[in-house]
Amino acid sequence: MSVLKMNNKILITGGAGFIGSNFCKYWLKKYPESVIIVYDKLTYAGNVINIKDTKNENFRLVVGDIQNTDLVYNTLKKYDINAIINFAAESHVDNSIANPDVFFNTNVIGTHNLLKAAKRFWLDEKNHFKTHHFHHVSTDEVYGFLGPKDSPFTETTPYAPNSPYSASKASSDFIVRSYHETYGLFTTISNCSNNYGPNQYPEKLIPLVITNILNNKTIPMYGNGLQIRDWLHVEDHSLGIEKILFSGRNGETYNIGAHNEWTNLDLVNYICEIMDNLFLTRKGKIRKNKLYQNYKNSFYANGGTQSATLIEYVKDRLGHDNRYAIDYTKISKQLGYAPTIYFNQGLMETINWYIKNKDWVQDVKSKSNQMTLNI
Ligand code: NAD
Repeated sequence: MSVLKMNNKILITGGAGFIGSNFCKYWLKKYPESVIIVYDKLTYAGNVINIKDTKNENFRLVVGDIQNTDLVYNTLKKYDINAIINFAAESHVDNSIANPDVFFNTNVIGTHNLLKAAKRFWLDEKNHFKTHHFHHVSTDEVYGFLGPKDSPFTETTPYAPNSPYSASKASSDFIVRSYHETYGLFTTISNCSNNYGPNQYPEKLIPLVITNILNNKTIPMYGNGLQIRDWLHVEDHSLGIEKILFSGRNGETYNIGAHNEWTNLDLVNYICEIMDNLFLTRKGKIRKNKLYQNYKNSFYANGGTQSATLIEYVKDRLGHDNRYAIDYTKISKQLGYAPTIYFNQGLMETINWYIKNKDWVQDVKSKSNQMTLNI
């Protein structure tokens, strides 16, 4: 059983990215007395604007690479960290196909570097300090893909990663396991399904579709669009990690999901339908809403045509996995996890978030207001 208490000093790697920044907000709202140190390289996918509203005196950002051995170790020591949650990763499958090197460097070497520093600080120097916890955030993609009738992935499904991204995540999971088995580091791993929610970089499916509709751009659809993904709200993912941090068993792996499978095509059509209903009256006229004026030269430019006409079929992704689905029985039975957000509610809120945060989209794409906070 984890020994963590609410007043931990937690290092959150990748905390300026999508899931990491949402986790910081989730955690500090519930446990404002915690000390949170975000450790992030601020790659194209990480941005300080994701955490700039996290105004808590116990919150800091260290800008650095998880491959930087000295900086990782010095940060653990300086803040006397007793928990690490490793979100830092290169996370976009398409990029891993185009440029695998950075995936193996960050996801494999970087994770090993964190484990080495954690072992040195907690086990070697602090003489097997009892109150430590290394949680590694991983993906369902390590299990390969499912046929249409196969049962969802469980924690005992054999690993069969197919893309350089999933292979790098699978490797990092094994390295975490080895540090537990060999050195006795307190570790847990979570493998979760596709996340959605606010602050997701608009290269991933849901924000890409929303922002392309808003900008009257085509919506690329890989192959026949019948690939199936299991969608989890980022806040429910945070809830699952919270359960693991407080009650997860040493050395265990937990799947986190939401039993919410959609083909890409159905999901994209659903987003199109929601957005058409939001913007247009039944007669196809633009609704009078101040916010929508921001899109008068883009969304409006399609003159009220249905958004689904923007869908354009493109050549399938190399090695595209057909179906992912997560069985979350273990975390549910052992730790009391259950997703709380209905998909239609979460998706509607996410769409509204992107409509309201046009500047955020521009900023993260241009990195125009990337600034550094001091530690
Ligand atoms: P993201 O790409 O939005 O964020 C990754 C963060 O890591 C960024 O802030 C980036 O700057 C940082 N980073 C990248 N390389 C780094 C390095 N070398 N050193 C320090 N920081 C570095 O990713 P995300 O979607 O928030 O994913 C977070 C984690 O969750 C990843 O480990 C990913 O594999 C996993 N995951 C994501 C999903 C999903 O649907 N997004 C699903 C399953 C698992």
